[in-house]
Amino acid sequence: MYKTTIGLEIHAELKTESKMFCSCKNDPDEKTPNLNICPICLAHPGVLPTINKKAVESIVKVGLALGSKIGSPSKFDRKNYFYPDLPKGYQISQYDEPLVVGGSLNGVKLTRVHLEEDTARLQHGSDGKSSYVDYNRASLPLMELVTNPDIKSADEAYDFAKELQLILRYLEVSDADMEKGQMRVEPNISVSKTDKLGDKVELKNINSFSAVKNAIAYEVDRQIKVLEAGEKVKQETRGWDETKMETFSQRTKENAHDYRYIPEPDLPPVEIPAEIMESLKIEIPELPADKRKRFVSEYSLNDDQASTLTADRYLAAYFEEANSEKEKATPQLIFNYLTSDLLSLVNSAGLKITESKISPQHLASLVDLAEAGTLNSRKAKDLLKRMWDTGLSTEEILSQEDITQIGDEGVLKETVVRIIEANPKAVEDYRKGKEVSLQFLVGKAMGELKGRGNPELLKKLFLEYLAK
Ligand code: ZN
Ligand code: MN
Repeated sequence: MYKTTIGLEIHAELKTESKMFCSCKNDPDEKTPNLNICPICLAHPGVLPTINKKAVESIVKVGLALGSKIGSPSKFDRKNYFYPDLPKGYQISQYDEPLVVGGSLNGVKLTRVHLEEDTARLQHGSDGKSSYVDYNRASLPLMELVTNPDIKSADEAYDFAKELQLILRYLEVSDADMEKGQMRVEPNISVSKTDKLGDKVELKNINSFSAVKNAIAYEVDRQIKVLEAGEKVKQETRGWDETKMETFSQRTKENAHDYRYIPEPDLPPVEIPAEIMESLKIEIPELPADKRKRFVSEYSLNDDQASTLTADRYLAAYFEEANSEKEKATPQLIFNYLTSDLLSLVNSAGLKITESKISPQHLASLVDLAEAGTLNSRKAKDLLKRMWDTGLSTEEILSQEDITQIGDEGVLKETVVRIIEANPKAVEDYRKGKEVSLQFLVGKAMGELKGRGNPELLKKLFLEYLAK
């Protein structure tokens, strides 16, 4: 039996107005290369960095949300290495006094969370000889989170990364989109038969959540096969090949970096004043795990439904708002109309839930009518679409034209009698045992009522009359 030990190193680009140490714009979507640059982020001689306050506050918020200790004072250090995407020849990072220490997420203990700067982006020419450097990304604020080696499987690692992404989005400190490189997950993995940790392998170039799971699962398997063959697992860095679905060796221990960390002489230590700490605490919203639990108990939703709603804090807020406005509607029915009908309108318009053309109040009043049986579900869906198109409320549309469902037995009875008299053949067939004839008669009645009849009631009345 092999024991798998996994630790994660996760980088996330912070959502600030400007870069980490200069006033250049932080715009990860900028397509024109080298537009958001200045002498500071290009590392011209003699320039001085200044610390981005919002970036520091973002990391502190992450620490507060994860139950960590906030390192104050904390300091910056230079991490020295050479690579063409690193203009200074060193990265300003944090070494022995990070901003955030300890804490936990999903039962996994955290080692630290620190603040540093991103590198430039290299673009390799199609001739295979030339490379280009785009410094727009150089010195964007970057968060690095390191976990203890507490993770036991690919699934646990996947869940951890997903939950962290959700928290970063709840805190609004990062969009954390893996496909866009805003969040980068680097697992280190070792497999051992004894309690002694085996040599670890670090994985890089993982660009999606599914790849996190696949790459770890592949690597665990590979290491077990190596050990089974009586060989030793080499300590190295391996890349993930998404096409071949396998890891490959990139760098072995022999040429591992010695970063020669030194304290950054151009930046003062960071101290967080007590009043700022207090105001940051107040800004921490209810976290996704707590919200999920509360949604299950408060609204009697199941775990999957609670997860669907809380996957976006604004969707969750919309749901709660609609619930506080409703009269008869159950949370269950509001969930259905919100997540299947309204969300598909929102998504197909390329909008966010906060930009929905139907307010939570309007959705609540529509679902109230559907719950009361005044509107059948097809009519309710039609109405929702028209509310979306016109921006009007349920009541406003209904008062313009009567599309409410007819649930008045008197009116329905008249129709039922008329349909029975006009269709003797179907009546006879039904009495001979042909069940579908009943459906035919109900359909006829619906047609005459222009779809507004209450189908359950109609069926009941037909059964009563046909039994006579
Ligand atoms: Zn700059
Ligand atoms: Mn880093």
